[in-house]
Amino acid sequence: MSYAQALLNRAIAMNPAESEFHQAVEEVMLSLQPLFEREPKYQKHRIGERVLEPERQIIFAVPWIDDKGEMRINRGFRIQFNSALGPYKGGFRFHPTVTQGTLKFLGFEQIFKNSLTGLPIGGAKGGCNFDPKGKSDSEIMHFCQSFMTELFRYLGPHTDVPAGDIGVGAREIGYMFGQYKRLTTRFEGVLTGKNAKWGGSLGRTEATGYGAVYMAENMLNVRKQALEGMVCTVSGSGNVAIYTVEKLYHYGAKPVTISDSQGMIHHPAGINLEVLKQVKEVERARLTRYAELCKDAVYTPAEQYPQGRNAVWSVPCRAAFPCATQNELNEEDAKQLLDNGCILVCEGANMPSTNKAIAAFLAAGIAYAPGKAANAGGVATSQLEMAQNASMQQWNFETVDTKIKEIMQNIFTTMHNTAAEFGQPGNYVLGANIAGFRKVADAMIEQGSV
Ligand code: NAP
Repeated sequence: MSYAQALLNRAIAMNPAESEFHQAVEEVMLSLQPLFEREPKYQKHRIGERVLEPERQIIFAVPWIDDKGEMRINRGFRIQFNSALGPYKGGFRFHPTVTQGTLKFLGFEQIFKNSLTGLPIGGAKGGCNFDPKGKSDSEIMHFCQSFMTELFRYLGPHTDVPAGDIGVGAREIGYMFGQYKRLTTRFEGVLTGKNAKWGGSLGRTEATGYGAVYMAENMLNVRKQALEGMVCTVSGSGNVAIYTVEKLYHYGAKPVTISDSQGMIHHPAGINLEVLKQVKEVERARLTRYAELCKDAVYTPAEQYPQGRNAVWSVPCRAAFPCATQNELNEEDAKQLLDNGCILVCEGANMPSTNKAIAAFLAAGIAYAPGKAANAGGVATSQLEMAQNASMQQWNFETVDTKIKEIMQNIFTTMHNTAAEFGQPGNYVLGANIAGFRKVADAMIEQGSV
């Protein structure tokens, strides 16, 4: 049995019922086998076994009182996965579906994503099965304060610097930062994604979506193509989706879909960005509200999607940007995209495509960028926020955006060259995984058995 397969079997046996973690391990480990064969030192030093084991996992109760005075209880997590390259870095997710397995898959992916950025940051993820939907501002604040009251002792600007993810934006980061400051008496760069008026980085809000589009343009450039004039499908309607739509317009493309967990919008004239921001960023409303405001857009509720499918991927497009959540694009969706003439899939979300969908994209030879490369603009800009905090400076938007563009281009070049080096040009799953892993693995060997 290959070392990669043995590692996958070990991960499944040691972490039962964590199917999303198994899926991420399968995607990463099986693509590393050519590296393991070329470099026996990784097996000799047991790097595979070590990188699969989080360095520390903190699980804690989050009690809070709702507006009716009732006691509520949630389960909080922080998975400090790997610190070979720097302080732990990775967001918090607040969503009712969050489990330890979800956060382990996200933390595991984060190790290699952060490595790919070329910046000195380790990998982590955290969150809670708390549902921010329908909660008042006061309930969100009390929850965030309770969450930080337990977690603050494990964080610090040189230890672990969390950020946002699904359900955690500038409002939640603000409340958590306030509580950290109160408990420690320190105003320091312990969280990223802060409001730019008091310690945040300009460009952080836009970074993940913009970065995904920069990645797409890089992939198309080597194929002598461009986004200009392309009809694009986008899923999700949160932070990543909104700024993917915005940047697609900057490049002259036409995004025609958005979605949320209840349904999707198809707007053949092109998504109205102003209305989208009003509905999602200001009103925090559902996409039915978008359909009320844009009469020529069609809303399809999720109950009417074809069985086992995500209807977003049935809308004909040249380029697709999954920007909602994990496993939102399966093998059938992938085949439909390919049948409709899609030539590029660029993942704003983490692990949105199932492993069978990825196999279909690779077999078809389209331009496919996995999330750990395509959505790395967000964490890269978080590191730029750390750098600004440490030097007590604030850079302007153009400076940050220029750096994001450069970082995305470097990530593209790294995965492109690595895929070619291992004899599989254009296989960016292999390219991104090997390049990301190799750097972490070498640092682990040099730092000894810690
Ligand atoms: P967000 O602002 O909370 O938006 C998430 C979007 O995805 C919402 O439209 C949400 O719809 C939808 N969604 C969530 N769960 C869903 C489900 N089970 N089925 C269908 N739709 C679902 O979060 P985000 O920051 O944009 O994150 C989106 C993805 O990007 C995630 O995979 C995240 O890990 C990844 N990512 C984010 C960043 C970042 O900087 N924010 C960086 C790298 C990667 P509802 O509102 O109906 O739930």
